Amino acid sequence: MRNNIERVLIDRATIAKRVEAMALQIAEDMRASGDPDRQLTIIAILTGSLIFLSDLIRHMPFMLRLKLITVSSYPGKAMSTQGPRIEGNMPESFAGQHVVILDDILDSGKTIEMVRGLVQQRDPASIRICALLRKQIPSAMAVKAEYVGFEIADEFVVGYGLDYDGYYRNLPDIVTLKAEAIR
Ligand code: 5GP
Ligand code: MG
Repeated sequence: MRNNIERVLIDRATIAKRVEAMALQIAEDMRASGDPDRQLTIIAILTGSLIFLSDLIRHMPFMLRLKLITVSSYPGKAMSTQGPRIEGNMPESFAGQHVVILDDILDSGKTIEMVRGLVQQRDPASIRICALLRKQIPSAMAVKAEYVGFEIADEFVVGYGLDYDGYYRNLPDIVTLKAEAIR
């Protein structure tokens, strides 16, 4: 697996520091909203956000709820989105809930906007978007996102939850792959 790495884009220590800062910021915004405890629902888009989610919420020592959904947009070896499809159903209502939608990376923005639309129909108190990575391309920059971990160039990355053909999610760093590893 390590032989296939081209270069480390963001190392584990840098990720850890940034994820902690993001959690503190979300916590602070929850306090500033004036709403009491127990009103935060995090909707995580699996599978890519799995590691991010588990690291993030362990820096949030207050009452919150999780909702996991799976959206596949890059099936198999596809390296561009084939259009997002959601698996798993949404609660009927988010009334009174401050919803934070969590994703690994903003690329075309289609996944997040689709999920945002579904949440919007369910009467939440607020919706905020949190993505670990955002590609510096117009489609991704156009998404209104309150929390973004790192802005990256338009290249295909894996690790820290992000996959290629299902592999590399367990790499602790965010890396690019050698050309011969992605075919
Ligand atoms: P969007 O709907 O914004 O185009 O796509 C978001 C999803 O596509 C992400 O949740 C992620 O699963 C996948 N994706 C987009 N860019 C990359 C990338 O550079 N590497 C990997 N591994 N997945 C990506
Ligand atoms: Mg994903």
